[in-house]
Amino acid sequence: MPDSPSTASSASGSSRPEALLDLARAAKGFMPDDEGLALRDAATRAGAANAAGATLMEIGAWCGKSTVYLGAAAEATGAVLFSIDHHHGSEENQPGWDHHDDAVVDAPSGRIDTLPFWRRTVDGAGLGGSVVGMVGDSPTIAAHWRTPLDFCFIDGGHGAEPAWADFRGWSPHVAIDRWLAIHDVFPDPADGGRPPYELWTAAMASGEFVEDGECGSLRVLRRVAAPAGVR
Ligand code: SAH
Ligand code: MG
Repeated sequence: MPDSPSTASSASGSSRPEALLDLARAAKGFMPDDEGLALRDAATRAGAANAAGATLMEIGAWCGKSTVYLGAAAEATGAVLFSIDHHHGSEENQPGWDHHDDAVVDAPSGRIDTLPFWRRTVDGAGLGGSVVGMVGDSPTIAAHWRTPLDFCFIDGGHGAEPAWADFRGWSPHVAIDRWLAIHDVFPDPADGGRPPYELWTAAMASGEFVEDGECGSLRVLRRVAAPAGVR
């Protein structure tokens, strides 16, 4: 049975959007609230732009924090959010790296497994009617994906190889007049790793996208020309 939209409304009677924000804030993950709000608002514009029912895509879900911000936009606009992750963590999440968290290691396998956390977050938010999880390798899914995207949020692996594979695989799926968002764009290398900034630079240099909003390390772009090689 689909989750009732009221599942996450709190007993104190706060609105559904407020209840979802509280859950997003409480979820484990890597999304500051101001950037999450900007993400939600950009995705809400995208959801509203397609009356036939928008298709929103998330690359890199981890435990579902950004999924709730985006899922709130999907629910509010009648869109569907597809949320991709293999749930084994990026290089930077592995033991010994900055973004490791022992709590998400699956004891029997010894591997990171964030899928149970993601499910708890999404089900706990009552977003099962608006969010579809896709468990697997992002570029592999991109190669088989056929539906034009109204909104694509790239926040997967931040090493050069995974970041570029996501950009090459997903940005061509963004429809004209629709949006591409990239997280962890740090113009100053002292603030964070380069690959997401380089994707953003490449998107701007391509002439296919224009800037359409930013907050912290979140950049929102709008496609104004067809991808190279596609007419
Ligand atoms: N958006 C999340 C943070 C994502 S962290 C939040 O709000 O907290 C980056 C995620 O990308 C990790 O969960 C990792 O498992 C995933 N990832 C990295 N490479 C991937 C790939 N090739 N395919 C699918 N997921 C990938
Ligand atoms: Mg991020």
